[in-house]
Amino acid sequence: MSERKQVILIVDDTPINLQILIEVLGEEYEIVFATNGKDALAMAEINQPDLVLLDIQMPGMNGYEVCKALKSIPHQEGVSIIFLTAMSQPEDEIAGLKLGAVDYITKPFHPDIVRLRVRNQLELKRLRDIQTRFAMLDGLTGIANRRALDEHLGREWFRSLRSQAALSLIMLDVDFFKLYNDTYGHLAGDDCLKRVTAALLSSLRASDFAARYGGEEFVTLLYESDKEGALVTAERIRAKVESLQIPHQSSQISPYVTVSLGMATFVPSDGSAPDHLINMADQMLYRAKNNGRNRVEYM
Ligand code: GH3
Ligand code: MG
Ligand code: MG
Repeated sequence: MSERKQVILIVDDTPINLQILIEVLGEEYEIVFATNGKDALAMAEINQPDLVLLDIQMPGMNGYEVCKALKSIPHQEGVSIIFLTAMSQPEDEIAGLKLGAVDYITKPFHPDIVRLRVRNQLELKRLRDIQTRFAMLDGLTGIANRRALDEHLGREWFRSLRSQAALSLIMLDVDFFKLYNDTYGHLAGDDCLKRVTAALLSSLRASDFAARYGGEEFVTLLYESDKEGALVTAERIRAKVESLQIPHQSSQISPYVTVSLGMATFVPSDGSAPDHLINMADQMLYRAKNNGRNRVEYM
C-alpha cells in the first residue's frame, strides 16, 4: 500500500491558530488550509483531505454548514471532521457530533492533545481506506472488480462528457469455458482465468483500466482512444490469449483457450448513460460469439 502522507485541511479564520496548528501537524502530515467556508470547500474538492480540522465561528458560512457541505462532495463522504472551536457548551458539541464529526476539541487547545487526537483519527482513516481498496478488488485475479468498474466508468464518463473525448469499452468472454471446467476441473479453470488476466494486462497501456466483470468476463476501458486505436488493443488482447496456447481439448473452435471480444466506442452526450457503452459492447460480444468466437466485433 502506498505510503503517501495523509492530508489535513485546516479551516480557521484566525491566522495565529493556523500557524500553531501547521507547526504542530506539519511534520507528520501534508497540510492545506483555508480561512473561510467557501475556500474550504474548494480546497477539499481539489485536495481530497483525509481529515478536516474545522472552526465553527467564521464569517460567512459557519463550521456546521461547512461540515454538512463537505460530506456531500463526491468521494469525500468518508472524510473525518474534527471541530476545533471556542464554542464549549455541551449543546454546541452535541450539534457538531450529530453532524457526523468524529471528535470535538475546544479552544484554547493543548497542541499535544490535538496532535494525538488527530493521529488516532487518521490511523482509523488509513485502515478504512485499506478496506475500501480491498473491497474494490477481485479476489481471484487481483484486478478491479465490478464495483470498481462501475465507479471508474461513472467517473470517466463524466470526464469524457466534458472533454468530448471518445471512450472505448471492450468486453471479453472466454470461449467454451464451461467445457474447460468440465474437462480440466474448476481449479485449473481458476488458473486459466489468472493467465487470461495477465495476458489482458500485458496488452494494455498504463492508463487503461481492466476489471473482472463476472465469472469469465472481463471489461477494459480505454480513455481517449478512438475506434481504430481501441480495435488494435482488442485484437492484441485476442492474439495474446491465443498465443498462450493453453490446451483446451473440448473447445469446438481451437486446440487452445481463446476469447471473444465486443467493443464499442462512444462520445458521451447529455441524456446518455454509462450503461449504454456496456450494452453496446455486450451486443458486439454476442455477435462475436455468433460469428464463430475467437474474434473481435465492434461498433
Ligand atoms: P461461451 O463460449 O458461449 O462463452 O461458452 P461458455 O461455456 O464460456 O459460457 P457459459 O456462460 O455457459 O459458462 C461460463 C462458465 O464459467 C460457467 C462457470 O462454471 C464458469 N466460471 C465462472 N466463474 C468461474 C470461476 O471463478 N472459476 C472457474 N473455474 N469457473 C468459473
Ligand atoms: Mg460468459
Ligand atoms: Mg464464455
